[in-house]
Amino acid sequence: MSLQTYHIHINGIVQGVGFRPFIYNLALAHHLKGWVRNSANGVDIEITTDQNTLEKVVNQIQNAAPPLAQIDSITTEKINHQSFDAFNIVESKNKASDFIPISPDVAICSQCQQELFDPQDRRFRYPFINCTNCGPRFSIIKDIPYDRPLTTMAGFEMCPDCRLEYEDPTDRRFHAQPVACPVCGPQVWLEDSAGQNLAEKEEAFRKARQMLADGKILAIKGLGGFHLACDAANAEAVDTLRQRKNRPAKPFALMAYDLDSIANFVQMTAAAEKLLTSPQAPIVLMPKKSNILLADSVAPSQANLGFMLPYTPLHLLLLEPEPGYPSALVMTSGNLSEEPVLHEDQAAREKLAPIVDGFLMHDRPIHRRIDDSVYAIVMDEPYPVRRARGYAPNPIRLTEALPQILAVGPQMKNTFCLTRDKYAFISHHIGEMDNWETFSDYKKAVRDYEDLFRIHPQAVGYDLHPDYVSTAYALERASAEGLPRYAIQHHHAHLAAVMIENGLSSAQNVAGLIFDGTGYGPDGTIWGGEVLIGNCYQVSRFAHLKAVPLPGGDAAIRKPSRMALSTLWAYDLPWEDDLAPVQALTETELLVLKNQLEKGINAPLTSSMGRLFDSIAALIGVRQSISYEAQAAIELEALADKNELGYYAWQMDSDRINIKPMLTAILADIKHHETAPVISARFHNTLALMSLEIAKAVNQQHQIDQIVLSGGVWQNQLLLEKTYQIMEEHGFHPLIHRQLPPNDGCVAFGQAMVTAYRYMKDKE
Ligand code: ZN
Ligand code: ZN
Ligand code: FE
Repeated sequence: MSLQTYHIHINGIVQGVGFRPFIYNLALAHHLKGWVRNSANGVDIEITTDQNTLEKVVNQIQNAAPPLAQIDSITTEKINHQSFDAFNIVESKNKASDFIPISPDVAICSQCQQELFDPQDRRFRYPFINCTNCGPRFSIIKDIPYDRPLTTMAGFEMCPDCRLEYEDPTDRRFHAQPVACPVCGPQVWLEDSAGQNLAEKEEAFRKARQMLADGKILAIKGLGGFHLACDAANAEAVDTLRQRKNRPAKPFALMAYDLDSIANFVQMTAAAEKLLTSPQAPIVLMPKKSNILLADSVAPSQANLGFMLPYTPLHLLLLEPEPGYPSALVMTSGNLSEEPVLHEDQAAREKLAPIVDGFLMHDRPIHRRIDDSVYAIVMDEPYPVRRARGYAPNPIRLTEALPQILAVGPQMKNTFCLTRDKYAFISHHIGEMDNWETFSDYKKAVRDYEDLFRIHPQAVGYDLHPDYVSTAYALERASAEGLPRYAIQHHHAHLAAVMIENGLSSAQNVAGLIFDGTGYGPDGTIWGGEVLIGNCYQVSRFAHLKAVPLPGGDAAIRKPSRMALSTLWAYDLPWEDDLAPVQALTETELLVLKNQLEKGINAPLTSSMGRLFDSIAALIGVRQSISYEAQAAIELEALADKNELGYYAWQMDSDRINIKPMLTAILADIKHHETAPVISARFHNTLALMSLEIAKAVNQQHQIDQIVLSGGVWQNQLLLEKTYQIMEEHGFHPLIHRQLPPNDGCVAFGQAMVTAYRYMKDKE
């Protein structure tokens, strides 16, 4: 067999995931000589071998790569013959413009978990155990290349034992940058809310667990920030947390030790199990079982509970099962209402001291704050609700290379997006931009991603809404840097996001059912119940919900009762005295509202689908005022009767969806004492059927049969599954989000796609 020298280049997420030791061991197994090194955008290998062995090696790279690696492509080429005398891992070569995808934070792996509880192991019960396949990444990286001095582990000098492991290519901690042990690494301690040190190390865990068992509230420093924790079975503790955090009803996330413990509280499918135990380890929403031993106030009026597994050794030690200790903890973001999750010790102490009875602290600094991700399971596949820890900053792969674009994202549930080559980097969930803390955090994060991924935007995309702070930021950047800028209609961004995420080409025409809360329309009204047809370059409005007034703007959003009466008013339907929303308002409030509607004072028009859900929820007495976003819609969905098949009528007035027949029928149902679960189900059924009828109409008039679904309303699982199913039955194959949330978490990505394609066209 003739020996040849081959150069192999592997593209994708192959750095910081144990790829080089994998190659090294593969080379040893095949008695190969040559070298491997990290390079721009991947890993380079050179070996001298025969054709047959080369094929075997490439095959094994493809099929046996480390669990966290994501290989985009492998190319091999013959180069000038070289003879090597060993196989080596050699230093990486980087140009200033090179970039390397960075691994997200990874949940503790099973091997580390085993060592954690092995009394013979030198890291027995050490809360910061990690390896090449697991542990903190994005949250501790200050700059690239990903190397210990550029992480928040820089201050911890490795002990000789750790260094041996770190330098041994056959060790599973070879170049694991956060490697540490009880001798040389970070430690935990417990302090009271005045900053007084109460206990250290093992004793700190023991006391913290005791405090939780006693119904106390703790701030716990974790991976990407602080959590607020308490015993989820202790109603008094949960209520106290709600009061102190000023969060009356929004559901809390939960954590329990293992799958068995979680299964005590929710119905867990195989898909949910798989997602919970994945390296990303997100919060997974699952149907709540009845008669469970948890405080109702953990998630009032919800059909689902959101659980996650302990994804770090620290959390495992905290939740270890023992009689008398909580088997499920509330683990909610350690922040004040809607502010960014806190991640710096001093700020956390100052802000959280009034809320908590103690702090479980550690001294590994968190460089980047990052929230827990949230997923639902829809039709047996993961469906994102919030994309952060474990996912960001993994890019979305594109089918073609794009120019470097900055898309600044929307106002609520903000993320931003940067593109380069065939990658779109969508930031971790940033949050609600209407508070100063979030906005200043946002501006830092944009620069941070630009630096990490070596991106210099050539154009900027932003929301058409003139008052979004992200819009102001985009305009400022564009004028300071002389960049072309593109204002993108909110629901056009939704449509582009779901189509490109699904690999469609930019010019393919689709029909988007964009059912959403709020988005600025080019006609000055507030859009949100839109059927758009078009592609990444342009869209037109095929149909939309007939617009109704939003009396008092935000006031109507906070009070579904006002929205319900506005909807009735817009359709010339009477406000009967015994209607729930009429009952919910005072005599004066009703007069003011009527006056406001009749004179059109501060009552912008909206075609929002989110507001229609609010109206129906209020009409049938489900909820008259809300304390968190989409509360009325979530409760309306939660109580729907899954066996009810009835539905209501509606009609098309040119391009306006007229729901008067449905409203009339709902009022009649209310009169006949039909129950809320039945009416809610009929309402959901109506929307699913409406979606089908509209899809047929688009197809008939425009020969477009590709339907895409985006917008926050599609977080409604009942509506989504009904719509999907009925469309499939009629030969439509709608595309839904699977990588990004259907809510505004996808908007930045859509903005980036529209901006990129318009920019390229303008340059032609
Ligand atoms: Zn591990
Ligand atoms: Zn050590
Ligand atoms: Fe939206």
